[in-house]
Amino acid sequence: KISHALPQIRQLDEAAINRIAAGEVVERPASAVKELVENALDAGARRIEVDYANGGKTLIAVRDDGHGIAADALPLALARHATSKIDGSDLTNIASFGFRGEALPSLGAVGRLRIASRPAGAEGAEITVEGGRMGPVRPVATPFGTVVELRDIFFATPARLKFLKSDRAEAQAIADVVRRLAMAAPDTAFTLTDRTGGAPRVVFRAEAETGDLFDALGARLARLLGAEFRDNALPIEAEREGIRLTGFAGLPTFSRGAANAQYLFVNGRPVRDKLLHGALRAAYADVLARDRHPVAALFIELAPARVDVNVHPAKAEVRFREPGLVRGLIVSALRHALAEAGHRAATTVSA
Ligand code: ADP
Ligand code: MG
Repeated sequence: KISHALPQIRQLDEAAINRIAAGEVVERPASAVKELVENALDAGARRIEVDYANGGKTLIAVRDDGHGIAADALPLALARHATSKIDGSDLTNIASFGFRGEALPSLGAVGRLRIASRPAGAEGAEITVEGGRMGPVRPVATPFGTVVELRDIFFATPARLKFLKSDRAEAQAIADVVRRLAMAAPDTAFTLTDRTGGAPRVVFRAEAETGDLFDALGARLARLLGAEFRDNALPIEAEREGIRLTGFAGLPTFSRGAANAQYLFVNGRPVRDKLLHGALRAAYADVLARDRHPVAALFIELAPARVDVNVHPAKAEVRFREPGLVRGLIVSALRHALAEAGHRAATTVSA
């Protein structure tokens, strides 16, 4: 007769659940920055300031002038699966960056988090959470909007801390994240500041751009990628069966030795997607050597129901309903623009 004592099944406690989930959402300081800047954009911010120190390992701070959080909602903002961005269960029409309600509780589980916020016409309030332990809501004098500070990321999960790269590499990843989000929001001002040690050093600053889409985007790209890019890029505008493609694609003569300057967005969300990068490669296949890579910033817009952004919390993958259609649109629009530019260049030379 077998007489094993049956193992007891227990519910994990909240702190453990948050720490496990944090492993998914927060891989490194740059992922925390991504979550916080996305929250600021979701809050309708027109100005976003990002500070960090020591590659974001000791300090990350994101300040915005968005709609803020009411004092009595601060504990809820830190609760798992609590979000103001979707209504209950409808995942088919996501227009915001966030919708999982996981970022803030995850950050509070792995570091020392402080949120201070003041909505219009209300008093300011703050809350802290350290290693998953939440403090009380307290009144505080704070500017309109929201400040989120994360200190000592992964102090509560030392194993994760060991996997971080050098301060320099982590700072580069932070700059890349902010740059990508800044490209997607040319009408919002961005400042990225390194506060390591003594004097703050501005990494980049981009004022709010106005004007039509191409003017604003062109100016923002010139700011973030250099005026050279804009002067060597072709404006792209195409549409097929309700899928819109806009942006700028670099001339073949402006290519790079690595595929590290390809900025792709789906419904305003920065993505790294095999299908899209593959389409870009295919479009340039005839005009670039195998070891050269195009520079491009391309924006795809389609009905939210035609793309699933709910694939993974941290990884920037998406799943299109009609991948072939998207790929075909990119390849043909870029080939067409490149052929026209080549044709213009050829006629200029022969004239
Ligand atoms: P999600 O973004 O998926 O909703 P988060 O954990 O990132 O989840 O944020 C939880 C909630 O806190 C948001 O739904 C939002 O209501 C509020 N919030 C977070 N950051 C900000 C901010 N910068 N400004 C205003 N509200 C914010
Ligand atoms: Mg969020």
